[in-house]
Amino acid sequence: MPSYDPNNIFAKILRGELPCYKVYEDDKALAFLDIMPRAPGHTLVLPKAPARNLLDVGADDLAHVAKVAQQIAKAQMTAFAADGVTIQQFNEGAGGQVVFHLHVHVIPRKAGTAMKPPAAEKEKPDTLAEQAKKLAAALAN
Ligand code: 5GP
Repeated sequence: MPSYDPNNIFAKILRGELPCYKVYEDDKALAFLDIMPRAPGHTLVLPKAPARNLLDVGADDLAHVAKVAQQIAKAQMTAFAADGVTIQQFNEGAGGQVVFHLHVHVIPRKAGTAMKPPAAEKEKPDTLAEQAKKLAAALAN
């Protein structure tokens, strides 16, 4: 497996070199909205420590990311009036991974509504800003 590339797009977001629609942050994890959501509220949860994917992440960082993903899933149920939540996590190109800093997709789902294909459409900035605010508020409750 190739080594971690510190110039991947999520590493730049983690360093504050690129913007994001932040939903949650603590000392070990960051969560922000996917700019090409597969459903409204689609969130990505990342460890702050460099890790390419599940295959090289430290066990403690992985456990923390899972804990944050659970909190976000619960908040999405209320903030987006979801009927369920889909969790996805891809490893290496063959596993469907496109951005090589570990991230867990947390996607609110409505009964009977299919997810959009990956990277189908960029969401409007105003919509993402409003959704990030709504989800962050639900997380704080
Ligand atoms: P994966 O690596 O798990 O296959 O997918 C990467 C995800 O990152 C995709 O869902 C894509 O829409 C999302 N993505 C790609 N570039 C950016 C970006 O610059 N900002 C954000 N917030 N999401 C991105």
